[in-house]
Amino acid sequence: MTIAAVFVCAVLAGCTHGNTTAAASPPKQEPVAAQPAIPDPGSIEPLAKLSGDEAMQYARQIVAFGPRWPGNPAHRKVEQYILDHLKGVEVEQDRFTAQTNAGPFPMNNIIAKFPGEKDGIVVLASHYETNWPLRNTSFIGANDGAATSALLLEIAAKLRSRGLPGYAVWLVWDDGEESFHEPVSNWVVEDALYGTRHLAQKWQQDGTAKRIKALMVLDMIGDKDLDIQRDSNSTPWLEDLVYKASSKFGYQSHFFATETQVEDDHMPFAKIGVPVADVIDLNYGYNGAYHHTTEDTLDKISGRSLQIAGDTVMEAIAMLNRCEMCNVKSGK
Ligand SMILES: [Zn+2]
Repeated sequence: MTIAAVFVCAVLAGCTHGNTTAAASPPKQEPVAAQPAIPDPGSIEPLAKLSGDEAMQYARQIVAFGPRWPGNPAHRKVEQYILDHLKGVEVEQDRFTAQTNAGPFPMNNIIAKFPGEKDGIVVLASHYETNWPLRNTSFIGANDGAATSALLLEIAAKLRSRGLPGYAVWLVWDDGEESFHEPVSNWVVEDALYGTRHLAQKWQQDGTAKRIKALMVLDMIGDKDLDIQRDSNSTPWLEDLVYKASSKFGYQSHFFATETQVEDDHMPFAKIGVPVADVIDLNYGYNGAYHHTTEDTLDKISGRSLQIAGDTVMEAIAMLNRCEMCNVKSGK
């Protein structure tokens, strides 16, 4: 697809997840690998019919626990809350201690596994913790962590009632995405992505990585003013597939009007060759006013936006199920 514009970090306060490249230095071209022929969005039954309103209910409940930075009792409560909603589903907990810039922190990636008929796995991931540098504020990350964790809970609720005709779907609530550097505006990638770095290493070692057909990270897509950027750190064909999936519902105006380069939970998996897409709207509030501030509250997010993102990723999975060539690795 054509890139309509280049997203300029300088106009946003705190492209913290982002370390976004400025317009003057376009992202490096990927080595051209074989590009799969992406199937058209199907007329077949969707993988699951989601409810944005029900996803919002989960988001309300998650933020009601309060700030959930690693080590905070509210974090443990949210872990338990997620687990309570996965009864009857195969769940793996990946507990470890992260050695951060601010010291050691207990962390836990929660993985729910929904088996499929085809050999292979599609992963959806969202971080669920809040920012430790904001621990002394009322920051609750309604959009930054809660909304997408809620969307995964809604997906889990709808997937559990049906057998999957295609690949297995694994949902990952990952921990320690946020940087521990202070102040919060100083987001340092080497001091962040603890959960996904741990999981990527584990999956590389135990052979799981080779079975993953695609991994999509969902982040900050509850924004009422939804404008998801195309990410140049993601795998191009998978980004194309996500955009094509959005077209099934006429959602294209919410996708990829601008392009940015995002450092997020997809990066550790890209590094080990997994095709990845970061589905993220970094442009949150005027000049980023709601991003990593106490303004990131429930009134800034909507069930409609969660519906748009959720429908799109469900369709993307259905398309991946029909795409025999979509096991092309990212080449990173
Ligand atoms: Zn964040």
